[in-house]
Amino acid sequence: MIDATWFGSPARIAQVAETLIAESQRYAGLADDARTQAATYRKAAKGYRDVDAALAATHTAQADEYKQSASYFQRIANANARGLEQWNAGIRPQLLASGGWMLPSKSDGCPHIVTKDGGWICTCAARDQVHWATAILEAIESVGDDEDRYDDGMDVVNNLIADAIESGLAQPSEYELARESLNELFN
Ligand SMILES: [Zn+2]
Repeated sequence: MIDATWFGSPARIAQVAETLIAESQRYAGLADDARTQAATYRKAAKGYRDVDAALAATHTAQADEYKQSASYFQRIANANARGLEQWNAGIRPQLLASGGWMLPSKSDGCPHIVTKDGGWICTCAARDQVHWATAILEAIESVGDDEDRYDDGMDVVNNLIADAIESGLAQPSEYELARESLNELFN
C-alpha cells in the first residue's frame, strides 16, 4: 500500500528514479528500432515505386505504421525522462482523500489529478495518454509491486524456515544463513 509515508524512504526514492531511467531507455530503444524499420520500408517502397505500385503501397503503409509506433514509444520515453526531471526536483504525488493522486502542474498552475481506472487517467489535457505525471505514478506502482512480491516471498521463506526448525530438519543457524543470503540477494 502506497501512502504519504511511503516517500520517506531514500531507497525507494532511488528505486523510483532508476525505474524512470530504465523505462525511458527501454522505450527510447524501441522508438529507435521502429524508426529504423520505418526507414527500411520507406526505402523499399521507393525502390518498388516504378516497378510495382501495389508493393510500393504496401511498403509505404508498413513504413507509416512503424513511424506511428516510433512516436508512441518516443512519447513514453520522453514522459519518463520528464518524470525523472520532476522526481529529481523533489516533486512527489500527493494522495487525495478521493484515492487519486495530485501532482503540481509545471506551467499553468492547474494540477494533474490522476486516478486509476484500468489505466491512468489525468484531469489535464493528456487525459489517458502517457505523460510525466502518469509516468511517475507508474514507476511508483512498479516499485511498490516489487516490494509486495519481495515481502510475500520472504513470508513464504520465513514460514518454511519456521517449519523446518520446528520439525528438527536442520539447525536454526543454517536457516538463518540462508535467510541472510536471500535478503542480500533481493535487497
Ligand atoms: Zn496530467
